[in-house]
Amino acid sequence: MSSCVVVGAGMAGLTAAGIMRSRSCKVTILDKGRGVGGRMATRRIGASRFDHGAQFFTVRDARFREAVENWERAGLVAPWFSEDGHVRYRAIGGMNALAKHLAEPLQVRTETKVERVEPAWQVILESGETLQADTLLLTPPAPQSAGLVSSWIDCSGIEFDPCFALLAVLDGPSLVPEPGYMRPESGPIEWLADNTRKGVSQGRPAITIHTRADFTREYFDAPQDLVAQLLFEAAKAWIGSAPAVWQLHRWRYSKPLPVNLPPCLFTAGPAPLAVAGDAFAGGRVEGAFLSGLAAAEELLKGSGRWCAGPGENAAIAACPWLSPFLHRFTENGPKGNREAHFAVRALPARPSRSS
Ligand SMILES: Cc1cc2nc3c(=O)[nH]c(=O)nc-3n(C[C@H](O)[C@H](O)[C@H](O)COP(=O)(O)OP(=O)(O)OC[C@H]3O[C@@H](n4cnc5c(N)ncnc54)[C@H](O)[C@@H]3O)c2cc1C
Repeated sequence: MSSCVVVGAGMAGLTAAGIMRSRSCKVTILDKGRGVGGRMATRRIGASRFDHGAQFFTVRDARFREAVENWERAGLVAPWFSEDGHVRYRAIGGMNALAKHLAEPLQVRTETKVERVEPAWQVILESGETLQADTLLLTPPAPQSAGLVSSWIDCSGIEFDPCFALLAVLDGPSLVPEPGYMRPESGPIEWLADNTRKGVSQGRPAITIHTRADFTREYFDAPQDLVAQLLFEAAKAWIGSAPAVWQLHRWRYSKPLPVNLPPCLFTAGPAPLAVAGDAFAGGRVEGAFLSGLAAAEELLKGSGRWCAGPGENAAIAACPWLSPFLHRFTENGPKGNREAHFAVRALPARPSRSS
């Protein structure tokens, strides 16, 4: 059985890992966070619950639509509101609950930071431990992936906006109208959501505030009390006076700036390697899903695991939303060897055993 290490348990890594596992790869996901989900993050303060990364997701691609329809049938997601002709979906219980569901059948090691990787493939952890893998998939935000393999993959053209997430428990109901969000036209606040109206929090009113990129850049290293004070002042019309209980989170990598890229980077040699994540297929949950899908496809072809494997039925039973993709893979079949198709520089030779 071939082995694959996936770095990152966000939507891209979880999607790819689920598909690869169903092809009888032994997949281990590593994530430095305390839990899975990456930017699909939900946090508690007392009895209140907050989505503090992605707030919702939209659906444009038919493959993602199939997955979302399966999740909706399973009661994992539901429409929240519609805008610009697109439904905004929320995950029941918070965005992180969907990630936890996807991770359930997978082998995930959290609080496991990857320090660097060496060809074909050795994954060196911060703890000093080294893992071996036949194939490797990197899904951290692209600049962080590049940091793990900087000498031979160039992701330098990819930039992310930063964002503050201010989470606050209010003493009384907010003035955020139904269905529970605001997009101020100017000022530091880009987005303000009432997690209670959204159905994520059952406790006291729970507000998430996200900031515009220019404000975030200016105040990124400022004391958190100052940032919170400025944001509560800007949000006064919807939340009243500053609440006693709040937390500030700094997202250094929030959403990637749009660039024209293939859905993942891939090279077949000296052993299959892919780099995926939202930067490659649109800075959204959907983009991360599609990038993970593309990476799994490339890695399965690169490792000769394209055809159905014996673990497939068990995988579908555990993870029914995968089945349409497995079907499609089987229909398409192998397309032969592919060249590395983007920005992968000459890889260093596999180190000799004695070095
Ligand atoms: C504030 C904010 C608001 C957003 N709003 C929306 C929205 O409304 N709608 C929408 O569609 N999208 C939104 N997004 C974007 C969306 O969250 C992302 O596009 C998507 O979740 C990215 O998934 P991913 O798997 O590519 O990356 P991530 O979710 O970032 O996953 C990467 C994982 O890699 C891990 N990692 C990184 N480095 C290492 C390492 N060295 N070792 C081990 N693990 C590592 C991280 O811990 C992380 O869990 C928002 C994002 C933010 C931050």
